[in-house]
Amino acid sequence: MPFYVSVPSATDPELAPQGDTAMFVLVPTPLLSEMPNVDWEAETARVKARVLERLWHHNVGLDPEKIVVEEVLTPLDWKRGFGLYDGSAFGAAHTLFQVGPFRARNYSDDVDGLYYVGAGTTPGTGMPMVVLGGKLTAERIESRVR
Ligand SMILES: Cc1cc2nc3c(=O)[nH]c(=O)nc-3n(C[C@H](O)[C@H](O)[C@H](O)COP(=O)(O)OP(=O)(O)OC[C@H]3O[C@@H](n4cnc5c(N)ncnc54)[C@H](O)[C@@H]3O)c2cc1C
Repeated sequence: MPFYVSVPSATDPELAPQGDTAMFVLVPTPLLSEMPNVDWEAETARVKARVLERLWHHNVGLDPEKIVVEEVLTPLDWKRGFGLYDGSAFGAAHTLFQVGPFRARNYSDDVDGLYYVGAGTTPGTGMPMVVLGGKLTAERIESRVR
């Protein structure tokens, strides 16, 4: 089971109380529609135990007994709390025909003067793409008003 770990307090100590650590773990999961019958509560407990075991094994200095605050978000939470389609935190997957020019356009065909920015629109998801997308949308609007 691959997962991504970020420890932002390692480079910015103000992100945690003195002597503590802020840690973020991202575990890839299927979309809600791909596995509609998952018991997310049970699955979360199972996955969390494996993550903690691996972190312990790699000696990253995380003692599960010492966790002070913890927040877990499952695909259900992404859907219910943030309205994200199919529980996908990242929007449409970065497959060939869903990135760059193939992704949803940054303007509306139906409503004149309505523009879009963000991960759901062209060129794609992730901070670099989203910032680039904002620039492209701004340029589109500018070229219209010029
Ligand atoms: C768990 C996770 C980890 C990630 N890690 C990385 C990473 O390491 N590197 C990377 O490049 N990208 C990463 N990403 C992707 C990146 O965060 C997103 O692609 C990017 O933030 C999307 O930008 P956005 O502007 O489309 O949406 P957001 O950043 O989500 O911004 C949308 C904003 O709109 C606000 N909003 C929503 N509805 C309303 C409303 N009705 N009225 C007013 N405001 C509203 C929200 O509160 C939010 O502030 C990660 C994403 C997730 C979920």
